[in-house]
Amino acid sequence: MLKPVVYSLNDWLFFYSFLIPRHSVLLAYELLSLTLRFQFLIYIKRKKYSAMSSFPGKVRVFLANLGYRRPLHPLVTPPLGLMYIAAYLRDKQSVSIELCNQKLCRYSDKTLVQKISDFKPHIIGLSAMTHSAGSLQWITTQLKTIFPNSWQIIGGPHASAIGKQLLSDISAHAIVIGEGEIAFEKIVSAYPNLNDLKGIKGVITQHSKNPIPINKANGHIIQSLDTLPFPAYDLVEIRKYWKEQSMPPIPRRKYMSLMSSRGCPFQCSYCHHIFGKQFRQHSPGRVVDEIAYYYKKYHVKDYEFIDDIFNLNPSFVFEFCEELHRRNLKIKLAFPNGLRGDLLSADIIDALCDAGMYFCAFAIESGSPRIQKQMRKHLNIERCLNNIQLAQKRGVYCHGFGMMGFPGETADEMQMTIDIMANSHLHTASFFTVTPLPGSDLFDQVTQQSHGLLDNIQYKEFSDVTINLSHVDDAHFLQMKRTALRQVMMNSNRIKRIILDFPQPHLLPLYIPEFIRRVTQGFIY
Ligand code: SF4
Repeated sequence: MLKPVVYSLNDWLFFYSFLIPRHSVLLAYELLSLTLRFQFLIYIKRKKYSAMSSFPGKVRVFLANLGYRRPLHPLVTPPLGLMYIAAYLRDKQSVSIELCNQKLCRYSDKTLVQKISDFKPHIIGLSAMTHSAGSLQWITTQLKTIFPNSWQIIGGPHASAIGKQLLSDISAHAIVIGEGEIAFEKIVSAYPNLNDLKGIKGVITQHSKNPIPINKANGHIIQSLDTLPFPAYDLVEIRKYWKEQSMPPIPRRKYMSLMSSRGCPFQCSYCHHIFGKQFRQHSPGRVVDEIAYYYKKYHVKDYEFIDDIFNLNPSFVFEFCEELHRRNLKIKLAFPNGLRGDLLSADIIDALCDAGMYFCAFAIESGSPRIQKQMRKHLNIERCLNNIQLAQKRGVYCHGFGMMGFPGETADEMQMTIDIMANSHLHTASFFTVTPLPGSDLFDQVTQQSHGLLDNIQYKEFSDVTINLSHVDDAHFLQMKRTALRQVMMNSNRIKRIILDFPQPHLLPLYIPEFIRRVTQGFIY
């Protein structure tokens, strides 16, 4: 392709150089040299991309996070997992990517299929949690009919937990286990040769021999998180997220979600260990680089971390806070997830508060030492309660999580959880029913011990699953769960604290209906 242009220009110059002045010939040679250099660069670039993918041109990739918004569960946060994959993909490949969060857009499954169709993708990546995986069968069947040649790849926590069994239920080509960046990039590289998917680590196809996916060691584990590009925030409409509720009870606000780490070494039986047990964390400087980038680009001053465990390594926390001070970044920090309460200390709380922490959630889960041991969380409850008090004294709004209905749990043990939360310095609390999620040890235990109990479980919404594994009868269990919040929240000191410390006081009136809904559970409905 290059040759005719180069030779014809050369011939032209050679012929006319006898007829035109000498300086014009030099100018023409300069132009020729520039043209050659430019064409050489294009050639190198094409060569690079053709080495990356066997597909000529850009592979069109549509990534979607599945899930619906329900009136009582309107929470929605940016799909960080897909944004990381998208950023990694375009760093390595010539791709055209569209990213959609079904929950944010409030799309029905039909509308989502239409949106995917409009994009005419070569590869469709769908990510689902267990409670949103029910729509996978319908969506993948529709897409297979419309685009029989497009690849459908399923990832996310549910696919990692279910593995090959999921492939027998839906019309997808492959499943990505665990962290998706490297495996998905290799999938794009393989397109359109379906056979090439077979050997990719962390990818399960219909032909894979190993049907057991739960061990995330089968997938890729990114050891150095700093090698990843920043998540592709430019592919999501971040301003729309600012108008929605993220994690309760933080009001709507202009914020960004971040993850400083992946993996957690703890062994909680109910956890499905999305990132495995091997803990890895960005360097403090890299996390602050990311904050500084968003601060400049989006003018955002409020950051929330949704790690599994942000504070496993105290020196990371101190260095992170120091780096924020060194760069004079005056921001606000929220931890709706990710700070383990008994690993905090007065020094760490002070450092985080000085760096801008205004909200922190504490996952106490159970007030019963026996249940703590049984579920393998092993939380030091006393230390956690002490840290809640220290944080509250520094003006941090503290929210607590409790779980009720562990296998064999008694009414007295549930009451211990309620009492501990009620007598703590927490501002607000949430209680969840213990739910055995596929992929968790709890799921295996319950399946072995109570045959058939989980066969018809409906995972519609994580806080609405109706199952009772405790020793308490269903009616009593429901009553305890419904009244738990009233016992915690109906306390004059607590209400005073909420009013004084609410993260955005001018939005407090918006929280009042939610407060009333919570404290009247089991009372008027
Ligand atoms: S501390 Fe959290 S992330 Fe770690 S195992 Fe327990 S539930 Fe899972």
